[in-house]
Amino acid sequence: MRLEAVTVGTELLLGFTVDTNAAEIGRQLAAVGVRVVRRTSVPDDADAIRDAVSSALQRTGAVLITGGLGPTRDDITKLTVAELFHAPLEFDDAVWQAVLARFARIRRPVVESNRTQAMVPRGARVLPNQWGTAPGLWLEGLPGLAIMLPGVPREMRGLLEREVLPRLAERVGGVIVVRSRTVRTTAIAESTLAERLGEIETEIAPVTLAYLPGLMGVDLRVTSWEAEPAEADLRLAVAVDRIRRLAGAHAYGEDDVDLAAEVLDAARERRLRLAVAESCTGGLLGARLTAIPGSSAVFRGGTIAYDNGIKLTELGVAESVLSAHGAVSEATARAMADGVAARFDVELSAAVTGIAGPDGGTAEKPVGMVCFATRVAGVTETATMIIPGDRSEIRGRAAQYALFQLLRRLRPA
Ligand code: AMP
Ligand code: MG
Repeated sequence: MRLEAVTVGTELLLGFTVDTNAAEIGRQLAAVGVRVVRRTSVPDDADAIRDAVSSALQRTGAVLITGGLGPTRDDITKLTVAELFHAPLEFDDAVWQAVLARFARIRRPVVESNRTQAMVPRGARVLPNQWGTAPGLWLEGLPGLAIMLPGVPREMRGLLEREVLPRLAERVGGVIVVRSRTVRTTAIAESTLAERLGEIETEIAPVTLAYLPGLMGVDLRVTSWEAEPAEADLRLAVAVDRIRRLAGAHAYGEDDVDLAAEVLDAARERRLRLAVAESCTGGLLGARLTAIPGSSAVFRGGTIAYDNGIKLTELGVAESVLSAHGAVSEATARAMADGVAARFDVELSAAVTGIAGPDGGTAEKPVGMVCFATRVAGVTETATMIIPGDRSEIRGRAAQYALFQLLRRLRPA
């Protein structure tokens, strides 16, 4: 089944609101085998809505519309679409009672404009909205199928999952799906990764591969198009397995997995406790780790040793190391990792020291140069990276790279 999405809202075109609904719709519909072949965003304007919806219906016969279903004057989606279907709006008492009940529950007064939310195009099926007041509408008639959902992302998602996907899945017979899996990589450039993967695209066809570079690494998303669920899963498993083998240690997980969570899991498996010593990342590494629920079982704490004096007093870095090698050096990183491990009484530690810029770089030690150390069960290893980006990118990537090194040591290939 093919379908078009139309998102309604002047704020979407002005760029004040990012159109997350369109992305959500694409992902969710693909999963039940419905292909979104085009999406359009239009302002809260009747002509624009009518034009977008009717051309979508002409092309595919099915359209999913979000936004403009609220009670205010700019919410004109329902009326405009109803006109296209020659369906007059009629007062629906069941919807009205649901609106009243909701307002009573949250102890807010009902105002006159709320009555418009109980107006339903004749022949439309009401999709009850338990997350808000505007119900969704499923309208089927001469020009085709129009599904209308409220714009608030949480309500949109709720209605999509509960009311729309099951009906669409039933319609397509549930036998043909579009499914994706994502392999997450880090600490490797997109071009280097592509070289490693070689002719992978032809090997995994008809599964397709997309390189999605981001701040923290490159995501490799494989998609199986229009296959039976079991076949899709099998094809994806083969592709993911192949990609993970070729990407090696750089592939740290799948889908929404966080590198910090992987590090904590690996440490937990080996019953190691972790501490960090941070200079240029100023706590970002600790923040990444403590963002993971349950991190306290592994992570004991860290020291932000920004000033050299603090590296001496709080981490026990020797003055001779600092003067001989400088604060940004593998020798200092090593002393920091060793120092924090001793002081926090842990078997596992990481240290980061670098030049985040924009000032402070030299020919020998340019902006973006970051030195790392990881200590695992008494053995400390160090590394240096030149990290591209502005100050914030360098700091964020440095924390990510520190996590990567920890994981690589905890789970050697
Ligand atoms: P509406 O249903 O048009 O009254 O929109 C209600 C709220 O949802 C507003 O705050 C919108 O900015 C937001 N919203 C509407 N459409 C979208 C969309 N496509 N993506 C993300 N947020 C949206
Ligand atoms: Mg709106």
